[in-house]
Amino acid sequence: MAFDSLSEKLQNVFRNLRSKGRLTEDDVKAALKEVKLALLEADVNFKVVKQFTKSVQERAIGSDVMNGLNPGQMVIKIVNEEMVKLMGSETTELLLKPSNEITVLMMAGLQGAGKTTTTAKIAGKLKQKGRKPLLVACDVYRPAAIDQLKINGEKQGVEVFAMGDKNRPVDIAKAAMEHAAKGGFNVVIIDTAGRLHVDEEMMAELVEIKENIEVTETILVVDAMTGQDAVNVAGTFDEKIGIDGVILTKLDGDTRGGAALSIRAVTGKPILYVGMGEKLSDLEQFYPDRMASRILGMGDVLTLIEKAQEDLDEEKAKKMEQKLKKAEFGFDDYLESMNQMKKMGGISKVLGMMPGIGGAQLSQIESAIDEKQMARVEGIIYSMTPKERSNPSILNPSRKRRIAQGAGVDIAEVNRLVKQFEQTKKMMKQMPGMFGGKGGRGKLG
Ligand code: GDP
Repeated sequence: MAFDSLSEKLQNVFRNLRSKGRLTEDDVKAALKEVKLALLEADVNFKVVKQFTKSVQERAIGSDVMNGLNPGQMVIKIVNEEMVKLMGSETTELLLKPSNEITVLMMAGLQGAGKTTTTAKIAGKLKQKGRKPLLVACDVYRPAAIDQLKINGEKQGVEVFAMGDKNRPVDIAKAAMEHAAKGGFNVVIIDTAGRLHVDEEMMAELVEIKENIEVTETILVVDAMTGQDAVNVAGTFDEKIGIDGVILTKLDGDTRGGAALSIRAVTGKPILYVGMGEKLSDLEQFYPDRMASRILGMGDVLTLIEKAQEDLDEEKAKKMEQKLKKAEFGFDDYLESMNQMKKMGGISKVLGMMPGIGGAQLSQIESAIDEKQMARVEGIIYSMTPKERSNPSILNPSRKRRIAQGAGVDIAEVNRLVKQFEQTKKMMKQMPGMFGGKGGRGKLG
């Protein structure tokens, strides 16, 4: 999952800090040295790391930390704040003209970065917002890219403008503008050609499009998994053609996080969106604060809630909320909620965003929702009496033994399920607005 390895290292550092009652200057310095190492290993740009640890140290030492009640927490808070700053503090929105004008987005990037996929993802997002986008296939060197765009455009219900591979990209783009004006489109998204490496011809082509068409935003798509290479590519593109923002793809597979943490600081350009998977719905707005809490292992409740609100069945959620409030949440509801989570795009995605859930807990709950496990879980739950299902607190050893026998499983499995049930219940209480718990952002410390 995204940032796992960096996150784990930082959490170790913080655990040590928190375990100390008072912190000396040396404690802080030692901890920051570890933070520095973790960031370097995560492939964060060297200069960025140096500046980052310097800022944290200056603030941490000599501030209230030394006299503070919770010095460890204070340091974590400072690290968190500096990390948010590093990624640009505020969310940068895509710049769109008013709906009665045509916004032109030019998508650029190296081959394989995810440009074509992302182009279609953006079109879907804008369509959801009530815009009428037109996709333009300007990658004339790879006929497959044109087909791919057509297929993705169709999936998104968005028209794709293509003229085959015999015309020059700039001419296709010009023709697309005319088509857009006639057809009442208000966003034109140009998918340009990528290359394996930065090369002059590609740059010249992009510059030519920009010279002939009024491009509103030039968006660079880079692959997060390439770490510092992504940062360098962003620097070069900005220098040669000028970019307005970056989309970082494949963050779902990026355990290190180096690109996400360095790109803004090195290039000065904001991250607009992040790609979180291959599906056309896997594109998320980039929130520096949420990203920092994710990296620091504090979960990302807000993103989760947004996702939940898009996907959840409101009726059922309301009922669940009532039950949680009245402490009536039982095993039937547990099954229901597991199904809900499955609908929300996979349990690991959902749980990975929760504060305080990780490692062992995560894999336990995750395994419970895996298809095969799910059937076993159902078997166990259906071996309970209705009373046991609605009031799990009465489950004593002899009842558990009977249930295990009924479901044909080991009693250890029943115990495991009961434990998962308790954890899930607790977890859902933490999700504000979703299953009705009070919850809130992950707290520091
Ligand atoms: P292009 O050459 O830059 O146009 O790249 P494509 O759009 O063809 O994408 C290359 C590969 O990356 C495809 O297999 C995509 O499904 C995959 N991909 C794109 N974005 C993401 C993402 O955010 N996460 C993951 N896991 N895969 C992605």
